[in-house]
Amino acid sequence: MIRVIAFDLDDTLWNVAPVIKRAESILADWLEKEVTGYSYEPSKLMPIRERLLSDDPSLGHRLTAFRQQLIKASLVTHLDEQSAASHAERAMEIFLAARNEVEFFEGALDTLRDIARSFQLGAITNGNADIHRLGLTDCFSFAFSAEQVGAPKPAPDLFHAALAHTGCEPAEMVYVGDDPIKDVDAANKVGLHTIWMRSKGRFIESETHPNETIDDIRALPDAIRKLVDR
Ligand SMILES: [Mg+2]
Repeated sequence: MIRVIAFDLDDTLWNVAPVIKRAESILADWLEKEVTGYSYEPSKLMPIRERLLSDDPSLGHRLTAFRQQLIKASLVTHLDEQSAASHAERAMEIFLAARNEVEFFEGALDTLRDIARSFQLGAITNGNADIHRLGLTDCFSFAFSAEQVGAPKPAPDLFHAALAHTGCEPAEMVYVGDDPIKDVDAANKVGLHTIWMRSKGRFIESETHPNETIDDIRALPDAIRKLVDR
């Protein structure tokens, strides 16, 4: 029996690229206003990015910590250490607020609320979208991020965390995501049912097949019904 529907967030419930682009721009404006003579240009931060990652590879999935350290490291040419740290902390707050101002796919919120009447819903994400900031706590009862759990999808850890939290067997959970490898393959290997949200029309070779495929989030209730009726 299916009890829980878990979701990937970015590119499953909204398009993420414009969200990040806008958040980067708000972040740059804020930093340049706060710090005289400083210019935030992500393309020029590559050497710092590489140094931080080689010092601490775990930053590769700790996106909030990574970005905050990156901002701080780029600010130390203009500010003393302590001031750079406090500016980076405030800058990260500005970024996260903007990063969670998303434009949901049409009908997504109504669909989620509809499904939440019959199933427990939750989020399983590699990114730093946050169900509290997104206003999803009325329908989502749990969320696990790679930053929190310590290993990003396609590793099974996030799915195991959600299974443990909900007390579900894998066959009692459906995972809905857009990425053929990190979402469909990864959840299939843990034994979950999978629904591929083909939001980008991508056809990347995956090893396994989703149980259902949808092109519009509003088709999700029907896709779930098919799984339940099987
Ligand atoms: Mg995604």
